[in-house]
Formats: sequence, C-alpha cells, structure tokens
Amino acid sequence: MPEYTDGGAIAPGTFRDRVAKITRDLIQIDTTNYGGNDSRGEPEAAAYCAKLMDALDMNPEIVESEPGRASVIGRMKGWDTTAPALILHGHIDVVPADASEWSVDPFGAEVIDDVIYGRGAADMKGMDAIMLSALEHLHATGQQPRRDIILALFGDEEAGGVYGSAWLVANRPDLFAGATEAISEVGGFTATVAGKRAYFLQTAEKGIAWLNLTAIGTPGHGSARHTDNAVTKMADAMSAIGHHQWPLHYTDTTRQLMEEVSELMGVTFDDSDPSPQLAAIGSAVTFVGSTLSNSSNPTGLTSGYKHNVIPGKAEATLDARPLPGQDEHLLETIRSLAGDDVQVTYEHGRQAIEAPYSGALVEAMIDAIAQEDPEAVVLPFMMSGGTDNNALSQLGIAGYGFIPLQLPPDLEFPKLFHGIDERMPIDSLDFGVRALLRILEPAQNGS
Ligand SMILES: [Zn+2]
Repeated sequence: MPEYTDGGAIAPGTFRDRVAKITRDLIQIDTTNYGGNDSRGEPEAAAYCAKLMDALDMNPEIVESEPGRASVIGRMKGWDTTAPALILHGHIDVVPADASEWSVDPFGAEVIDDVIYGRGAADMKGMDAIMLSALEHLHATGQQPRRDIILALFGDEEAGGVYGSAWLVANRPDLFAGATEAISEVGGFTATVAGKRAYFLQTAEKGIAWLNLTAIGTPGHGSARHTDNAVTKMADAMSAIGHHQWPLHYTDTTRQLMEEVSELMGVTFDDSDPSPQLAAIGSAVTFVGSTLSNSSNPTGLTSGYKHNVIPGKAEATLDARPLPGQDEHLLETIRSLAGDDVQVTYEHGRQAIEAPYSGALVEAMIDAIAQEDPEAVVLPFMMSGGTDNNALSQLGIAGYGFIPLQLPPDLEFPKLFHGIDERMPIDSLDFGVRALLRILEPAQNGS
C-alpha cells in the first residue's frame, strides 16, 4: 500500500486558469431553482460535470429524479483500500437572480479585477469547480486520494433537495455505499477573528420546523357576548411564541467555538454572555449569531372574512429552528406556549445535525490549513441553515462544511450567499484546490 507523504507545496496560481474556467462555464449554464419542481438547466450542468468526471475514469451516473431534475455521481478509487469512502458533494442549482439589481449579467460570469461575478460564484459553483479541479489534478499526475472519493453534484439543494439529495438518499442509497463522512459547503471561508485569519469549519447545522397552528372556536355574530373566539386564542398563542426568549444553549460545536475565540481574544469565556465573542468573529456572525439558541418566528396569520362575523377558525404559520438534540424540546415548548386551544402540526421538518470536531478527517482539514496558510487558525461553527449534508445524515454519514476559500479580509462571505453581485476571487478558488488536495491525502498511483 502506498503511503501518503506530504508532496510539498503546489505553487500558488497553479490552478487559477482551470478552476476559473470550470466556475465560469457552470455559471453560464443558468440553473435557477424557483422552488417546487420549477427549475432550469440542471441536466445541462450535470452533463457538463459528467463529461469532466468521465475523463477521470469516475464512471459518472446522471440520475434524474423527475424529467429536468438532474444530479451526477461518480467515484474515484482511493489507495487505502481499508479506508471507508469519503463523499465530496456540491449542488449545481442556484437561487434566482434579478438582473435589474445586478451591476453585471448574473449569468455572464464576467471577470473584473481577477474576480468572477455571477450567480453561484460563491454558492456554490466555485466550490464545485474546486472539487473537480482537485480530482483532475490527481488524475493528471497519476495520483490517487487516500479514500475512495464519491463526487456527488446535486440538483435542487436550494429548495431543500426534494428532487436532489433527499430523493437520491431515499431511492439510490447504493450510490453512497461505504461512505462514512462527507465534505461540502458552507464552511471553509475566512473571516478575521481577533486580528487573525480564521477558517470556519462547519460541523453542525440547525434543523427546520415549519409549523402550522390552528385555533378552533365557536363561530357567531360579532354583536354577541362571546367567550370562545378563535382569533383571540390565536393572537394569544402567537404573541406568547413571538415574545418567547429562547435560552442560550451550547452544543459541542458552539461551546468549542466560543472557547477558542475567547482564547484568541485572551479572555475567559463567560457562557452567560457570548456577546464579546460574537462581536469578535467578524462576518461569520451572520451564520453563527442564530446558532446559540432555538428560535421561533411567527410568519403568517389568517382568519375571518367580515367585520360582524366571529370566525370558527384561525390559522397561523411559524418558522422554528431547533439546535442539534433540541428538536423535541422545541416542539414541546411551542405546544405549551400555544396552549391547549391551539393545535400545532408539522408542515415541513428537518432534524438538526452535528458531527464531531475530532477524528482523522477533521485533523486532515486542520492540517491542510496549517500547511497552506500557517499563520491562520481553524474554528468550528454551526450553520444557521441546512445543506445536503442533512439528507446524507440519514445514511449515517457525518457531514462537514469545509471547502477552503482564502478570502480578502474585506470580502464578507456570508453576504455573497444569495446576494446581489455574487462573486469570487480567482485566487481564493486556486487556494481552495491546493488545500482540498491536501485533505485528500494523495499518493502516487501504484507506488
Ligand atoms: Zn449552497
């Protein structure tokens, strides 16, 4: 069995042209996901990626969950035949872009001052290109990754993966056979923390509980004496839920983050007040700020049709987000705040997930940064939203978000996500390929 020997640094700039070309090609394929089963371009983008993967002998398979909804999955053999497979995954769809708000064509993939502009540059066609470029490099140089790599490029991530990762996990689990861990978005970006460049490694994702609330009362005339009013019951429930202060609750990930940030700041962490640490983590606060407690925001309220008629029913919608391990507690709390007169049911739910910030893969990710950017630190974080890691977790696969992107200090990564003039510096992508290659622990084929 060949052994991984640190192959030494690959010169910065080596992958610029190639990773920029793939990123731009993908941006120019409009893969807008409008939600539901309304989308564009996934088959074209999947075919483009499949062609590249085919040239790497990865036997790519394009899977269509519905006509027009495509994902592509292929496998590259690893040199360590005792190691379980590792999934690298990305999504090929993007959220809509309103061209009138942009200063460039969102699907033009224009390059201005070495920065690629376009929908998906950050989320996440640039990252897809990093993965493809890294695997191309291994193939071209006769190397293999340590573990079997399953490269999965999913459709429909931006609308919850119903036609992408969730469908594949339910219908084609064979494609992920033997995998124990996965790496994808959103982590890997940099932000300045207490004067140091920090790479944020995503080990957890908050869950989703979209809830429907229904209050039933006695209908009647608006002029009557009335004590069983559905509108009043619902107003009480929504007020209680909307004003509820969810207590701080630290999971392994967020406690570790707070403690490591405190160390960088040279202070002791007081877990009753994380505000100094949140103030110190720079742009990452956009993702991290809402991961220290559960949340529940009222988002809709419907009842009644006439001034003088008391309706028999009032309905409301709620967007609640549980922390890992808090799914049940969140629902129980909302039920108790809503009271006995209001029924609470699920519209859509997704369990929160958390993977350990330890083990060989996490060490490989931290090592990769130590090699490529020795001055920097790596910090764990929880993502406020969800990714395709969530579907894969149902197969027992531990999901991480870590496609390294060394960003200029003034570029706030969280704001690029779904943002206007979404963009990505080519040097950041080039760095990503070099760092990802280290994570894959390559060795010369057959050596
Ligand atoms: Zn994304």
